[in-house]
This record gives sequence, C-alpha cells and structure tokens, in this order.
Amino acid sequence: MPMNSPISQYIMIVIISGVFNVLLSIYAYYNKSKFTGMKLFMWSTILTAVYTFAFAFELASESLSEIRFWLNIEYIGMPFIAPCSLLLVMHYIGLEKFNTPKKAWGLFVIPAITLLMVKTNDYHHLFYKALHLRPHVPTTMVDVVPGLWYYIHGIYTSGSMFASLFILARYWRKTKSIYRKQMMTMAIGISLPMLGALLYVLGLTPFGMDPVPILMCVTSALYVISIFSTSLLTVAPIARDHIFESMRDGVLVLNLENQIMDFNGAASQIIPALTPAAIGQKLEHIWKRGAESGAFSFGVDPSGEHEQELKWIRGGETFYYRIRASGLFKPNGQLAGRTIVMIDVTEHTLLQNKLRHLAEIDGLTSIYNRTFFMEKSRRLLTSAHQTKQPISFILFDIDHFKQINDRYGHSVGDFALQHVIAVCQQCLPDNALLGRYGGEEFAIALPDTPLAQAGQVAERLRNEIVGNPLYSAAKTITITASFGVTQARTADVPLEALLSEADIALYRSKHSGRNAVHLSSPEYVHTDEVK
Ligand code: GH3
Ligand code: MG
Ligand code: MG
Repeated sequence: MPMNSPISQYIMIVIISGVFNVLLSIYAYYNKSKFTGMKLFMWSTILTAVYTFAFAFELASESLSEIRFWLNIEYIGMPFIAPCSLLLVMHYIGLEKFNTPKKAWGLFVIPAITLLMVKTNDYHHLFYKALHLRPHVPTTMVDVVPGLWYYIHGIYTSGSMFASLFILARYWRKTKSIYRKQMMTMAIGISLPMLGALLYVLGLTPFGMDPVPILMCVTSALYVISIFSTSLLTVAPIARDHIFESMRDGVLVLNLENQIMDFNGAASQIIPALTPAAIGQKLEHIWKRGAESGAFSFGVDPSGEHEQELKWIRGGETFYYRIRASGLFKPNGQLAGRTIVMIDVTEHTLLQNKLRHLAEIDGLTSIYNRTFFMEKSRRLLTSAHQTKQPISFILFDIDHFKQINDRYGHSVGDFALQHVIAVCQQCLPDNALLGRYGGEEFAIALPDTPLAQAGQVAERLRNEIVGNPLYSAAKTITITASFGVTQARTADVPLEALLSEADIALYRSKHSGRNAVHLSSPEYVHTDEVK
C-alpha cells in the first residue's frame, strides 16, 4: 500500500487521534486527584485510544481474518466509551451522588455483553450475521450484516450519548456562564461522533468509511484545547467540591417534598445518618435518627427564611447549632426546594451561658445575686398584681456572724454561709425565689403566699437553721438568723419599699434578742411575733 494514498493518510489521522487520547489519559492520570471525575476521563481516553489504534490496524489489514482480529480488539474499548462519558457528564454536573457504585457499574453491563457477543460471534452470529470483504475499493474493507445484538449495542450507545446531551442541556441554564464554554465543549465532543455514526449508518461517508475515529480525533483535540485554555474538567467541579465541601457549616439541599438532594461533608459530620444512601430520603427520617434532642420546624411559609437554635446531643456531648432554612428558587422565580444551613454555635452558646451564669449567680452560694433576685422579684410582683394573687418577701440576716469569722476564720465563715443556704434550699417551697441580698443577708420571694403563711415559712427556716449546726473540725457551731417578713398589699408598692418593710421587721427581730421572726403587717403590729 503506497504511503501517500488517501487511505494511508486516513490511517495517519486515526493514529494521531489515538496518540492524542494516550496523552490525555496520561494527563488525566497525573491529575486524577484534582477531581474524582478525572478518573472517568482517564478511562474514557484509554478506551478511546484502544478503539482508535485497533481501528487504524483494521484499516491497514490485508485480509478478512486480520480485520476480524482487530475488530475484536476495537470492541474492548468502543462499547464502554459512551456510558463512561455519561458518568463523566453526571460527575461534572454534580449528580455523582445519585450514582451509587452499583448503579454506575450497571451502566457497563450491556457493553460487557456486547464485548462477549463479538468474541463469541462465530457460535451464534447474533452480533454480525455476516462479514464480507467489500469489492472494488482501494483497500481491504468489510461490509457488515448486522445481527440483533448489533442493534442493541447501537441503541444503547446512542442512548447513553443522548442522555449525556440531555443532562448538559438541562443544566445549561443552571450553570454559571463561566462554565458554559466547558459544557459546550463537552456537548460538541459528544455530538460529533454521534453525527459521524449517523452519516455512516445512512451511507453518506466517502467510500462508506467509518468517520467516528476521525471525529474522535477532533473531539480529543477540543478537549486538549479546553483543558489548557479553560481548565476543562478541573475548575468547575473542583470549585464546587471545594467550596461546598470545605464549608465549616453543614449544608443540606431539599426538594419540595423535603427529600434530601445534596449535602456536604460538614452536614454528615453533624448528622451521621447522612450517608450517600440518604439521598432521596425524607429529611424528617434522617433528622429523627440524628437529633437526640430538639425538633426543627421550618416555619409556615416554605419560601421564607426560618431560623432556630437547636441543642443537639451527639456521643454524649452537647452541641448547639443555629439552623437556617431558606427557599431555593429557580431562575424563573419558582420555588424549587430549600437549603438548610447548620452553623455550629456551641462555643458561642457555652460562653454566653457562662456569662449569663456569672451575671446572675452568686459565686459563693450559687444562688441568685442581688441584681438578678431584684429583677426576677420585680417580674413576680408584677404578675402577682395582674393575677391578684398574694406575694410575700422574707429577709433574713445571720446573727453575730462577725464572731464566727473572728473565731473560726473567714473560710469557716464562707462555709457557714454555704451551709445555711443548703439548709434553706431543703425546706423552701418549690416556687420560692432565693437570693443573696448582702454579705450574710438573704432575701426570699414567695409567690402565691399570704403573710401568715410566709411567716410560717420563715419560722420553719429559723428552726431548721438552729437545728442544723455546722460541724467543723474543732467544734460544733450553732448558727441562728433573724427574719423579717412582709406581704405586698397594695398594687403599686415598689419592691424596694417592700424590702425595706421586711428590713424593719428584721431589725425588730434583732432587737428582740435575735433568732426570731417578725411580720411587718400593720394588722400584726401587736402580735407580730410568730414564735
Ligand atoms: P448581727 O447579728 O447584728 O447581724 O451581727 P453580725 O456580726 O452578723 O453583724 P453584721 O451583719 O454587721 O456583720 C456581717 C459580717 O459578715 C461582716 C462581714 O465581715 C461578714 N461577711 C460578709 N460577707 C461575707 C462573706 O462572704 N464571707 C465571710 N466569711 N464573711 C462575710
Ligand atoms: Mg448579721
Ligand atoms: Mg448583716
């Protein structure tokens, strides 16, 4: 065969296409870590290279048996290229989560049968009914009489390619314009061999030659140009994967039926039930398995923003998340679903709780400090007036506390304060509010309690304090306290006035010899000793 004949030039082009694909597969191999779809691209170029080289040898073959041999090799690559491209496109668009490995391998079942059919064709003739050498052409070529599986293979291949084009077309509008050039390249890369195959089937190609390998050369060239000019197959998926996956906040994407469509790594760390198998499942289902405490409601309006803070217990640890749901809209403004962003606010919330604790709680006795006691009491007072329920206040001061400090030391004094509070807490009613009013002076608010009953409470406290001495290492210390009790009688009496009434009663207890309870009500002026 002369080297300058059209057929040898054709073989040259096919070989160049094969070389292109080998180079692309090497490129893909060395960049496979940049994006998971790169592996698919590598395989598709390896398969194309196998097909293309074998086709070149088929063209150069001198006999029917040689042609048969190279056809067998071609089918190692060719049937697998189209499903491989389909997976690649899905990956590029970001649909890869819908492909479980099982489903992905499923796409290669028919191509594998095709390969088997070609290898065993002599026994059943289901692929080629017959292969003839074509007469009157400048080179050795075959004509094919197709069998049943030949059509199945053809339909499957073009079906896969149509599916790829369909996906690209569907996502065209959703894709940012900077990526559209890449999508266009992919679409042309897929359409060209399809078009060639169509012309071939219709008998419209010169000498009835198969133009697909040549067009694959053009496709490969397009990919090469794209890779170097717009970073095809690297930029978009990397950007998407990177931004989405590297977010510290968990993100979930739901459709209108609240089925999970997508999520990132941070989300699956928050909710371990979010595995690839969770795609397509209802959020409620996954949520229930994830949240040991706290329920999330979306709010009434599905398109509106809804924010909520949630306590979440995972592996014995408590986390706090701010959860924000917002509507997801199509470019035409139609509601398509929702996104749920989960922001970890654990540190923030714990710090806030700690600050609140510091601001409200007395460090020594762990009861409310004066400021917070006053604030809460004011609220109780207001609501007592509104509900027309009685409310009483007790003020008490430990007797001769200075002596305790002087005799036993300040730290024993501290301990005595804690001890008195522990005793009080045991016998106070549940609704009582206890606060440290001053150094060794304490205040109690008693909602729903009239004066006489509050006097009984004070009397019980007095009794318990005397009856529970403090056992220190050296000695048993009996502690006593003096009490003043008052009730809010008029609607507009301020808290400060009430407490100063209680203080006057307390002062009377001190003067009557300490370890006593006095009531401040005018009705009890003469009989104000409960003892
Ligand atoms: P009275 O019966 O008249 O109340 O006598 P008293 O000794 O208790 O007199 P007063 O209420 O004036 O004295 C209170 C003392 O309590 C003064 C202060 O040193 C002491 N004190 C106040 N806060 C603390 C505290 O947090 N720890 C200790 N150990 N002592 C305290
Ligand atoms: Mg005192
Ligand atoms: Mg005092």
